[in-house]
Amino acid sequence: MSFDSLGLSEPLLRAVNELGYTSPTPIQRQAIPAVLNGGDLLAGAQTGTGKTAGFTLPILQRLSQMAPAPAGAKRHVRALILTPTRELAAQVEESVRAYGKYLKLKSTVMFGGVGINPQIDALKRGIDIVVATPGRLLDHMQQKTIDLSRVEILVLDEADRMLDMGFIHDIKRVLAKLPPKRQNLLFSATFSDEIKTLADNLLDSPALIEVARRNTTAETVAQKIHPVDRDKKREMLTHLIKRHNWFQVLVFTRTKHGANRLAEQLGKDGISALAIHGNKSQSARTRALAEFKDQTLQVLVATDIAARGIDIDQLPHVVNFDLPNVPEDYVHRIGRTGRAGATGEAVSLVCVDEHQLLKDIERLIKRPIPQEVIEGFEPDPNAKAEPIQRRSQGGGGQRSPRQGQGAPRRDGAGGNGGAKPAGAKPAGGNNNGSRSPKPATAKPNGKTDAPRAAHSNGQRNGLSPNPGALLGGKARNEGGNGRRDTPRSGQRGR
Ligand code: AMP
Repeated sequence: MSFDSLGLSEPLLRAVNELGYTSPTPIQRQAIPAVLNGGDLLAGAQTGTGKTAGFTLPILQRLSQMAPAPAGAKRHVRALILTPTRELAAQVEESVRAYGKYLKLKSTVMFGGVGINPQIDALKRGIDIVVATPGRLLDHMQQKTIDLSRVEILVLDEADRMLDMGFIHDIKRVLAKLPPKRQNLLFSATFSDEIKTLADNLLDSPALIEVARRNTTAETVAQKIHPVDRDKKREMLTHLIKRHNWFQVLVFTRTKHGANRLAEQLGKDGISALAIHGNKSQSARTRALAEFKDQTLQVLVATDIAARGIDIDQLPHVVNFDLPNVPEDYVHRIGRTGRAGATGEAVSLVCVDEHQLLKDIERLIKRPIPQEVIEGFEPDPNAKAEPIQRRSQGGGGQRSPRQGQGAPRRDGAGGNGGAKPAGAKPAGGNNNGSRSPKPATAKPNGKTDAPRAAHSNGQRNGLSPNPGALLGGKARNEGGNGRRDTPRSGQRGR
């Protein structure tokens, strides 16, 4: 199947063609016609599936075809795309520009950690499409530098992650400022009860789309476990990188402090490495990412949230230096490699402390991951498991529970606003003392009716009317390990 049959206009097809895309991915095949139809959409798709083009292409087409502003009139915001992290926002906006290069639409990205004035200037000049993280968008709303009253299309990208990061009230505040009549697109990798509630309130008879979840079908990613003693992990990583001459290695650590320390140690081993996490300045993060992308940097060490949405074509190696606390994060991590059909390799260094985490992951992905002991790194069979260090120690990496904090930063760029104590309720979002404690109520855009099939042939792709049950709802609250409320990274999408 080619892109030509999806009903996209010539300028979009030309852009897609120049990017070298020959055929649409499954999410694109389904989402593009559904969005072009003008209805709401609930899509279960993870990063790496081509979902960004799946919503961006039809949005660009609709905006370019729907009544444009009269000649000479200032542009106004017609499409709003919300993402959980700065990196993802930047990448989505890059895609908007790339796909829309032959159209006359203007887009901008807005997130925290950088000056607000250039964003205000861009808005003043007139913008059609805004890609934003919720925190900075709220800043603009409070300063009345953005007018959302004429938004025609809203996208919540990686909605599950936005809720995980405590943005529900921020999202509701944004929704309250949008016109009730609009097209809503919600993308989420997982479908927890919170997502279902959000979808119920937000979406009007949504088309339902689910594409193969990577946690069941990551065929393009070769996964491997290397059992190792906890204090031999760094040595093993150096050994693997040097022995295989790996380049563009994305390494995940559990904590920001761990990321810093590992990057430093790799440097001492003669491997160029930088850490990327929420305590780094935006410019340091951007620089590290740029060097990694152009392959002047061999290794990027990242925490989960910072790495969210990093989109590097055909990233060859992902290493889990630590297994993630939340099994779904494993799936997100290995989604960094083997993207859109390319092959990749995901290697996990697993010590005795992590055996339970590994079991949880294997249960989620419904398969055992092959194990390979590396000669010289045979783990001590008598080693005893120790509790896993879930929080960064010392320095700026310290995470503390949000209770009792004065006014923590919401973006994780300097603080730890997103960290939750074990057993805490999911984050309520508004943890910034400067904001009104009373969240605005969302104006739901109609209730969810019986879902519409996204396919022209009326097939529902195995979906039943309950999106949660259908869209692979192996939600975080399943699994009985109670890990749902363990602390998550503090980076906030601002
Ligand atoms: P996404 O899931 O949106 O983050 O996209 C993952 C990657 O797939 C990006 O690098 C895109 O440039 C790439 N991609 C998207 N659509 C296609 C396609 N139809 N063919 C090849 N690559 C694609």
